[in-house]
Amino acid sequence: MIPAELSSRHRSSWQAELAAAITDPAELLAALALDPALLPAARSAAAGFRLRVPWSYVRRMRRGDLHDPLLRQVLPVGAELAEVPGFVADPLGERAANRVPGLLHKYRGRALLVTTGACAVHCRYCFRREFPYAEQVSGEGRWDAAIAAIAADRSIEEVILSGGDPLVLSNARLGALTAQLVTIGHVRRVRVHTRTPVVLPSRVDDGLVQWLASLRRPVVVVHVNHAQEIDAELAAAFARLRAAGATVLNQSVLLAGVNDSAGALVALSTALHDAGVLPYYLHLLDRVRGAAHFDVPAERARALMRDIGARLPGYLVPRLVREEAGAPGKTPVL
Ligand SMILES: *Cc1c(COP(=O)(O)O)cnc(C)c1O
Ligand code: SF4
Repeated sequence: MIPAELSSRHRSSWQAELAAAITDPAELLAALALDPALLPAARSAAAGFRLRVPWSYVRRMRRGDLHDPLLRQVLPVGAELAEVPGFVADPLGERAANRVPGLLHKYRGRALLVTTGACAVHCRYCFRREFPYAEQVSGEGRWDAAIAAIAADRSIEEVILSGGDPLVLSNARLGALTAQLVTIGHVRRVRVHTRTPVVLPSRVDDGLVQWLASLRRPVVVVHVNHAQEIDAELAAAFARLRAAGATVLNQSVLLAGVNDSAGALVALSTALHDAGVLPYYLHLLDRVRGAAHFDVPAERARALMRDIGARLPGYLVPRLVREEAGAPGKTPVL
């Protein structure tokens, strides 16, 4: 763990913490006492998709351990530069599903609003590492067309705020966005897909709690991949989300070298439940260029599911799914 004094200066408001996030691979390696020889590869990989990790998350990593499951999710490595057949820039065909700028309406009843291109952390395995955000989210009034499309389509019962990560927006921006949404009668639920509380628990401040409480049946889907991510500070942030009236669920990605063992998955579900969060999905990796070294074959994933299914109560077993271009929903992997 990183000594608290090393980073106490970053502990004011969440915006200041976010601005102080580590973006230089040399700083991350030094903070964790890792071999500087890793730097050239880290810099090359970061040139394509930049390093970004808040100190709060770094403090939960073990010093001197290159195989730390949290570090592996964020450290740029040379393996990202390998061209691997089958790993492509747009594995989900999102460019095609995207007729109204900023709105992805692929599944019945649910529409996903791309609220921002930014994230509080850059996860090396993310399919969005190649997604052309700049085209999505430019200019003033950028959500108007998407909101108008939602208002015009009575089949949309649920609006999912996604991105990027919606919780990098200020509470004021979020309020302005949902002030329009709550006037649309057929939208019964608002869901937020976010990893920000996980890497920056201070993001769940009083203003955010008030905003969530103002939404219709709020659902927050967070993204934790390993039990070591859940410390007391994060558990307290989850408790604040629940106190706002939100249903809090978790989605994870099955990642080689991070959580691809039955022990890690059982520990994750157990730690989530201890923190008041239920597992929702366990995703097979999207086959995006640069992430092949995280891939866990479907056969191995099924074996893991059988194993954890025999060790956990049913409600702590996430659904194993993959995303397929053109499918009517997440595809269960049985
Ligand atoms: C994942 C996703 C949803 C939500 O799917 P659920 O199965 O309801 O969680 C909705 N729209 C898009 C485009 C998605 O990728
Ligand atoms: S969209 Fe989610 S998984 Fe991808 S980089 Fe942002 S926080 Fe990480």
